[in-house]
Amino acid sequence: MEEEEKEKIIEAAVCPFCACLCDDVVISVDVEGNKIKEVRNACKFGVKKFLSPQNEGRLKKPVVDGKETDYERAIGKAVEILRKAKKPLVYGLSNSGYNAQRVALEIAKQKKGVYDITESICHNLLYPELRKGKKPFYYALLDEIRDNANTIIYWGSNPVESHPRHLSRFAVYPVGRYAMRGVLDREMITIDVVDSELKKLSSWFLRVNPGAGGGDAKIAEIMTRLVKGETNGLGELVEGGIDLDTVVKIADRLKKAFYGVIFVGLGVFSSENASKKVEAILSLVDALNKEGVKFVLFPMKGHFNVVGAVQLLLRETGYPYGVDFSRDRIFVPGKTTVLDVIERGEVDAALIVGADPYSSFPRDKVRKLCDIPLIVIDPFESPTTIFSSVAIPTAITGVETDAIAYRMDGLPLKLDKIVDCEYPSDMEILERIYEGVVESL
Ligand code: SF4
Repeated sequence: MEEEEKEKIIEAAVCPFCACLCDDVVISVDVEGNKIKEVRNACKFGVKKFLSPQNEGRLKKPVVDGKETDYERAIGKAVEILRKAKKPLVYGLSNSGYNAQRVALEIAKQKKGVYDITESICHNLLYPELRKGKKPFYYALLDEIRDNANTIIYWGSNPVESHPRHLSRFAVYPVGRYAMRGVLDREMITIDVVDSELKKLSSWFLRVNPGAGGGDAKIAEIMTRLVKGETNGLGELVEGGIDLDTVVKIADRLKKAFYGVIFVGLGVFSSENASKKVEAILSLVDALNKEGVKFVLFPMKGHFNVVGAVQLLLRETGYPYGVDFSRDRIFVPGKTTVLDVIERGEVDAALIVGADPYSSFPRDKVRKLCDIPLIVIDPFESPTTIFSSVAIPTAITGVETDAIAYRMDGLPLKLDKIVDCEYPSDMEILERIYEGVVESL
């Protein structure tokens, strides 16, 4: 009995690091010491995240203008900044729970400001392609993919580095209804600019040589022609950088698939001419389906609740990211999105939640951010917290506070609080800021 009180085992905890949201993590908690003792089933990133309350790098106290203070003053200062702002930016939110995202969105709406999320930087090119409506979007949930897919392509994506359990839980190794022997019933193909650990695990590897005329779009275009059987004039498409022999073999393999999936990563979405590449890969998927081969395209999402942020925006506004509530047309990519409003100096304050734009934005945008007051809400110190006007520490979502998050395929999951902490949640802080802002309107 005494032992039971000292140690608690949490079965099936959900990992709040990446959008796989693995829900089979087993955690042993030292109840007396309020510490996580052991984490099982998670990958190295998941373990690190669960153990992060015990690690260095926490933002320990609220800070205003470089001086430590208390929550009352820091929240008061944040409200004052937002009150004065004519058009604030609210940005980040992909590492927050769904309910915190809702409150942040309300702040942006009340202030007629700009609300944007990390999707604006990472996967923004998929949506314009879909909105063109030229082609249907073939998509499936991860459970369907695990059950049915026997041909798996990772294109511009290396889950071994970014989502280490993606292969074992959803795509390559698990047993599925039509892949009873797991990996033995599946073929994995990697298409990427670099050799990686994934190459060793793949049945086929195709190197992308963008500089030598063998870029992603060209490869997808050639494969599409091969799938359609349009080989006339194919030679004109082939340039020096393409390993045509492998492309032909892979196209042949795709045509024979029972069910296939292309997991597309940032190697495509965040590269030069990404929109052309996305369009070409969508065309390949479309051609395969028209030839009677079931294929889906699945974007690899990164942050653990970026999909929650997208779903919320779609529900509330009809748009996936980057909305400006001061305009009649609230969503105009290239105008209402975070980097554009910063570039044009349109926002006069920023509320950043769980993001580090000082590390992730281009230098010229960071320089412009330096000209406006920044309020940062985050459990951890970062270059952005260091240069902010107000930094407010929070509990770590999914470890020190519970939340709802959406897996990369849109499945909502509940994240449990594992240990107690002295910090309020980001939602509590946002609610207090919201109340202050509304009072002043
Ligand atoms: S793959 Fe992602 S969600 Fe799963 S344990 Fe690793 S970091 Fe956590």
